[in-house]
Amino acid sequence: MFQLSELPYGYAALEPVISETALRLHHQKHHARYVEVMNGVLAETGAPARPLEEVVVQSAREGARKLFNNAGQAWNHGFFWRSMTPAPAAPGGDLAAAITAQFGGVAELKAAFVAEGVGHFGSGWVWLIAEGDKLSVVSTHDAASPLTEAGQTPLLVCDLWEHAYYLDHKNDRAGFLNAWFDQRADWTFADAQYGAARGRGEAWRYPAPSELAAA
Ligand code: MN
Repeated sequence: MFQLSELPYGYAALEPVISETALRLHHQKHHARYVEVMNGVLAETGAPARPLEEVVVQSAREGARKLFNNAGQAWNHGFFWRSMTPAPAAPGGDLAAAITAQFGGVAELKAAFVAEGVGHFGSGWVWLIAEGDKLSVVSTHDAASPLTEAGQTPLLVCDLWEHAYYLDHKNDRAGFLNAWFDQRADWTFADAQYGAARGRGEAWRYPAPSELAAA
């Protein structure tokens, strides 16, 4: 059984970009439901407990849509919570240098990130990813993520599903993405992920299922 991953801050900590009401609903209803449905499917299959990253990759490979959709959304939301902070710092060190070298600067990266998110049709996610040293901005549909793409490490993600922003920003996805990038993206976390992409330290993982965590 997987648990609903905890937020690394309080429900009101991301205001005004994400209100307490919206974050509570998003975490306790949307994310919790994906975890609940995934646990139900896993219980039916009787498969041995394994990390969520393996569940996502294997269900994608097998075309197990219901499991993939719910496991993917469980993982993506855990990563999304970790991608945000109430007290953002500017990108530092190697990541700052890579952003300057590959995009021209943080402003240009932001323009690319917002444009990708605004241009994404329907539900999904907009990501900053690394493949080794190389940075890219990509979007994925529905529950899809870079986890299933060999060699890709996500650095940050923002949720493009309407449930992520409609309560606070109505139909203004661009306004949400601009505020999110400027005020809530966690560059300290992104920097650690960028290190992991280049073999320095471990990339973020969803909390292990209780059977493995207890072992
Ligand atoms: Mn969501």
